Amino acid sequence: MGGNTGVVVVGGGYAGVMAANRLARAEGVEVTLVNARAEFVQRIRLHQVAAGTHEAVVEYRKVLSEKVRLVVDSVMEIDARGRVLRTEKGVIGYDYLVYAVGSGAAGQQAPGVREFAYPLASLEEAREVRTALEAAPDARVAVVGGGATGIEIAAELAEQGRRVTLICGGVLNPYLHEKGRETIRERLVGLGVTVLDEAKAAEVTETSVRLADGTLIPSQITVWTAGFSVPDLALRSGLSTDATGRLITDDTLTSIDDEHIVAAGDAAAPKDASYRMGCQSAVQLGPQAAETVLSRIAGTQPAPIHVAFAGQCLSLGRRTGVFQISERDDTAKASHLRGRTGGVVKEFICRSTVWQLAFEARKAGKSKNSKGQGEKPKDSHRQQPVAAH
Ligand SMILES: Cc1cc2nc3c(=O)[nH]c(=O)nc-3n(C[C@H](O)[C@H](O)[C@H](O)COP(=O)(O)OP(=O)(O)OC[C@H]3O[C@@H](n4cnc5c(N)ncnc54)[C@H](O)[C@@H]3O)c2cc1C
Repeated sequence: MGGNTGVVVVGGGYAGVMAANRLARAEGVEVTLVNARAEFVQRIRLHQVAAGTHEAVVEYRKVLSEKVRLVVDSVMEIDARGRVLRTEKGVIGYDYLVYAVGSGAAGQQAPGVREFAYPLASLEEAREVRTALEAAPDARVAVVGGGATGIEIAAELAEQGRRVTLICGGVLNPYLHEKGRETIRERLVGLGVTVLDEAKAAEVTETSVRLADGTLIPSQITVWTAGFSVPDLALRSGLSTDATGRLITDDTLTSIDDEHIVAAGDAAAPKDASYRMGCQSAVQLGPQAAETVLSRIAGTQPAPIHVAFAGQCLSLGRRTGVFQISERDDTAKASHLRGRTGGVVKEFICRSTVWQLAFEARKAGKSKNSKGQGEKPKDSHRQQPVAAH
């Protein structure tokens, strides 16, 4: 690596791109981003891809510093001892690794899910939902999962005139304050969505969802949004993971097994701090993972991480939304924005997330010496802006 320190970021989502861009600001650091596809996927728009109201693909040249080398490849194994990644196409060595592989759909949770339900966690999955909907304009739709993704896709499709049943599996979006929940329920019902709060999906068939109490909900297209899982790369590579497969780190995002591995985003499990998986935490954890690596390169002690939340913003179709305001620790408050204002805020958030990545990419032009002799960036992670999603 020509005397430079080689840092490889695995996963070019929100956390990985933010980390790579922050690392690219340091002199003497060669940054490589390995991502499974050649474009950045704005996952927070995937329900819109499914509904056909927006695209989610952004070219990396718009959000990634030109100082970062992009390698389109899939990492199959991390050889921590040898500091080498085995990929589909070969091997890649590293001095430091940022593990930011994100999340995907939860595995099969009921009979028939794999055969008949459509997950909605990746670009390909969203496009498959779209294709199925286009092929069956009059099909009844069941959405399983009453979290943010389930609510957003249910609203999006009902607004288009689809007959939609939302099977929540428990209380409608447990994250929300009761007042925010009521606003969302009102809007969903107003759009014609049948909201089944405590109903649990027990089986999916080609034409229905059978609930745990035996009730059959007619559904030709069942969209499954009940939970995320993470790739098993860390687990497969013999690194310490939590029960869901996320890489366990200390409070500086450093793997508890290896100082040369740092994690960020949905695939990270910082000890004693369990963050809600989301773009909001990913964009804050990415730069902090980078700062931890830069501290280690400089031989200084990395700072503990700090993530501040502003709330959760949900689109309810193309015209309205709800912004559930939270405490900084992510506890929902009684206050929320609603209606057209909520919708405008949500659209602003979707756009500003991409601007945030691009902003960090542009700043990579202003280098900082990784040995600690350069000026400390004014926006070091303690002042990281908070995007509320
Ligand atoms: C429909 C939908 C709506 C959402 N809306 C919101 C929202 O409004 N607000 C919010 O906060 N969150 C939302 N989320 C969740 C949010 O998208 C994720 O939490 C966020 O994308 C996590 O960012 P990340 O960088 O950790 O991982 P990701 O964005 O998942 O990126 C991970 C990247 O790693 C790559 N990768 C994985 N494995 C490998 C490998 N082995 N080798 C190479 N590359 C690999 C993937 O291809 C991907 O590019 C939504 C999710 C969905 C599906």
